[in-house]
Amino acid sequence: MNATTEKPVKETLNFQTEVKQLLQLMIHSLYSNKEIFLRELISNASDACDKLRFEAVTDASLYGDDSDLKIRISADAAAGTITISDNGVGMSRDEVIANIGTIAKSGTKEFFSKLTGDQKTDSHLIGQFGVGFYSAFIVADKVTLTTRRAGSTEAVCWESAGDGEFTLEAVKKSTRGTDVVLHLKEDAKEFLEDWQLKSIIRKYSDHIQMPIVMKKTEWNQEKSENVITDEDETVNRASALWTRPKSDITDEQYEEFYKHVSHDWEKPLGWTHARVEGKQEYTELLYIPGKAPFDLWDRERKHGVKLYVRRVFIMDDAEQLLPRYLRFVKGIVDSNDLPLNVSREILQASKDVDSIKNGCTKKVLGMLDDLAENHKEKFATFWSAFGRVFKEGIGEDHANKDRIASLCRFASTHNSDDAQNVSLTEYVSRMKHGMDKIYYVTGDSFGAAKNSPHLEVFKKKGIEVLLLTEPVDEWWLGQFEEFEGKKLVSVAKGDLDLGSLADETEKAQQAKVAEELKPLVEKIKAALGDKVKEVRVTDRLTDSPACLVVDENAASGNLERMLRAAGQNVNAAKPILEINPTHPLIEKLKTGVLAETFGDWSHLLFEQSLLAEGGQLEDPAGFVKRLNSLMLK
Ligand code: ADP
Ligand code: MG
Repeated sequence: MNATTEKPVKETLNFQTEVKQLLQLMIHSLYSNKEIFLRELISNASDACDKLRFEAVTDASLYGDDSDLKIRISADAAAGTITISDNGVGMSRDEVIANIGTIAKSGTKEFFSKLTGDQKTDSHLIGQFGVGFYSAFIVADKVTLTTRRAGSTEAVCWESAGDGEFTLEAVKKSTRGTDVVLHLKEDAKEFLEDWQLKSIIRKYSDHIQMPIVMKKTEWNQEKSENVITDEDETVNRASALWTRPKSDITDEQYEEFYKHVSHDWEKPLGWTHARVEGKQEYTELLYIPGKAPFDLWDRERKHGVKLYVRRVFIMDDAEQLLPRYLRFVKGIVDSNDLPLNVSREILQASKDVDSIKNGCTKKVLGMLDDLAENHKEKFATFWSAFGRVFKEGIGEDHANKDRIASLCRFASTHNSDDAQNVSLTEYVSRMKHGMDKIYYVTGDSFGAAKNSPHLEVFKKKGIEVLLLTEPVDEWWLGQFEEFEGKKLVSVAKGDLDLGSLADETEKAQQAKVAEELKPLVEKIKAALGDKVKEVRVTDRLTDSPACLVVDENAASGNLERMLRAAGQNVNAAKPILEINPTHPLIEKLKTGVLAETFGDWSHLLFEQSLLAEGGQLEDPAGFVKRLNSLMLK
């Protein structure tokens, strides 16, 4: 546009392999929804204006004599080009190379590893990753970008045919900002029509804050056609979407805005939009995405909330605005009270930010309550995508822990499969008469938990047990004692206390049996030495001869293994070996027919109990030897 080539210092550079692949994909696989290129380029232009406005907070001279930020779009039918211009922050030569040159963005590699080769599936994937600048190549066989950084006099021209290399050249540009010229492919010439461009802008970019300006078209009576006038017209509404009243905003507009802030092409599961007045005045518009991003588990992962102050964009990933367990939420918060020059450090220490954070947390929990209550399917989608992260909240967010716990869903012996769909409220409502505890078992897999010997008596009595198999479960269980007055109790910890569920005759019988087996118990303890803290008779088991439990307050075997696997040094509590008095093996040990091999049998009881709960033997070779020798007898 405003660039005239001068110095012939032109260099040719290569795209990185991943960028090349990305370009190939754009060129060959995205033909079904070509028009999205415009949204992406407008989104970048708008970001560039936001950035300049932010930088100008501390250095107003960056505006020069032009503080009227806007995006301009024009088509040149004769040349077959579309130009998207902005007077935003622009890029230096180094920034051009870093942002749209050699280096692929962090997610690109991951993205390629997920490609299937099936165009339909893959184009969805592209959506998930956001196509950004390179989507220009969906419609263009050559792209020329000329840019001048705000505050600099030097400009640079980037040009590529999307074939693996690009050129860079120092040029003159009279104005700050970026012009992107798309040389349209033969099959994309439809986009030269002004009305086409305008309708795409209204469809995808109406919510953009910056004015998107085009020349006005007018009906010409004589020529009997639309002609382009010299007058400018603003095509979009150009007011921040979140400042408009809710009743004025359609679902489609909310969804478009979501795509803009989240770079996710799929629809969100829900959103909350409110202007909050009180100690702090702010507007929040927060979304629950429909699926987990590929890097949700990355601890370095960025948060998804953008902070604005009085409509001025301040920063991405403002992690102080929501607690960690809500890090999957996307959207914006626009504060009326924070200073424009607020920094991350200030945010961290600010009481005002805490009150925004509390408010936003309540809104998100409220939205989840609503999904759980009224949109069960969406809630199930939410749970399978984010449940594991969300559960961290029970341990992390003291003020809201009960509310968070009631939103959690678990696998349970009540189900025939591993579906996580049982709430604590539901569990409590199904409790048998006389039952006053919520029972759970932890394990490192669903199979291990479901088949745990600790569940035997619960199966026999028809008592529901929650099956908790994710590492985070051990953590929050350590911080959360009871729900609606019902204690959460591990079936593998402490004495089995079924309370009034065990009847009196049963109890008397057990006491008698325990007394009878006292000598046997002492002998086994002597054989095992300090491998176990204690040996005792149990009524926990129906089928297995023995199992291991730990004291009520000790770390479970599962937690201990997890910590070890994570390389932590754990001072493990010694387990308690519990034996099943009705099992034939225990009976034989009692009668003394196995006296000769008693030591081996005792160790085997201990070792099989450890294996059954998913533990690892300290001396596997010794175990095998014992087993073989007993089998030969
Ligand atoms: P994203 O917008 O998600 O960062 P893009 O591929 O759309 O990814 O853009 C890559 C980068 O190129 C942007 O982050 C920005 O730094 C830079 N960029 C693209 N378009 C412009 C523009 N019009 N003005 C300034 N910088 C731009
Ligand atoms: Mg972009």
